[in-house]
Amino acid sequence: MNGARRTERGMPPPKRKIARSAQPPNARVNGFSRPFSNMQVMSWFLIPLFFLDFYAILFPVMPDSCKYALAGIYAVVGLTLVVGVLRASAINPIDSSTNCDDPSVSTRCNVCQRTVRKSTKHCRKCKKCVEKFDHHCETLNNCIGKKNYPSFLAAVIACTLLSTFQLACTVYVIIRFVNDLGGFKEALASAYGQSSDAGLRAGVVLGFACFGALFLIPPAMAAMEVLLFHIYLIRHNITTYEYLSGQHKKNMAKKKAQMKNRKQMMMRDQQTQASKQASARNQGGCCASICRACCGAGGAGQLPTPRTDTML
Ligand SMILES: [Zn+2]
Ligand SMILES: [Zn+2]
Repeated sequence: MNGARRTERGMPPPKRKIARSAQPPNARVNGFSRPFSNMQVMSWFLIPLFFLDFYAILFPVMPDSCKYALAGIYAVVGLTLVVGVLRASAINPIDSSTNCDDPSVSTRCNVCQRTVRKSTKHCRKCKKCVEKFDHHCETLNNCIGKKNYPSFLAAVIACTLLSTFQLACTVYVIIRFVNDLGGFKEALASAYGQSSDAGLRAGVVLGFACFGALFLIPPAMAAMEVLLFHIYLIRHNITTYEYLSGQHKKNMAKKKAQMKNRKQMMMRDQQTQASKQASARNQGGCCASICRACCGAGGAGQLPTPRTDTML
C-alpha cells in the first residue's frame, strides 16, 4: 500500500532488494568473496606499484611547465580506475527476478531451478545466475553482467588510458636522460635534494623507469585489446558470451560442412572405384565370351576335350 501510494504521488517506487531465494546459499556474493583469484591478487599489487612508479620516478623528471597538470590528469584517471575496479568487484550481478512468469522473456535455469530472464546465464564459478551475463572476469574475480558492466567498462577505459599515458611518460624520461642529463639531474635534485652522486641516482631512476615500463607493456596491451573488443561488442549490441557462442556455432557449422564435404568426397571416390571395378569386370566378361566363341562351350581357361577315336 505504501509503495502504491508513493507511486501515485509520482515518486519512484522503492528499490527492490535482491530476494533471499535468488542468492543460492553456496554462491559467491561478489568479487571480494573467497577464494580470491591469482589475477585479482596480482592487480592489488600492480595498481599501487604503477601509481608509485608515476609519482616517485616519472613525475619529478617531467617538464616543469606541465608536470602538475599531468599529475592531475593521472590522478583523475587513476581514481576512475580504482573506483571502477572496486564497484565492478563489489556489485552482485545476480539475476534477482524470482517471479518472472512471462515465457517470452523468461527461461529456467537447470542448475538453480529458478525462472530467470532469457539473457541470464548461470556462472559455474560464481554458482549463480547472472543477469545479462557478459563474462566471468578473473581480474575482478566477479561475473560481469547488466549491473556492473558500466563500472567494468569505466575500469577498462581508465586502465587503457592510464597505462598508455604512463608508457608515454616513461619514453619521455628515457629521451630526457639521453638528451638532457644535466636537466634530469637538476630535476631529481629539486625533488629529492642534492646528492654527492647525482649521476648514479639518475641512472637508478632511469633503471626503475625502464623496469616499470616492462611491467606496464603487458597490461597496457591487454587493456587496449579488451577495450577494442568491447567497443566492437557495443557496436553490434552483443555480449561477450553471445559473441563467443556465435563463434562456437560458426566453428561447429564449419566443422560440420567440412565433415560433409569429406563424406561426399569419400562417397564419390567409392563410386568411382566401384564403377572402375565394374568396367574391369565387364572387360573380363567380354574376353570370356570371346574365348567361349573361339574355344567352344568350355569357355576361357578350359581346353577342348581330346577326341579318343583319333588318338587311337
Ligand atoms: Zn542458475
Ligand atoms: Zn562468475
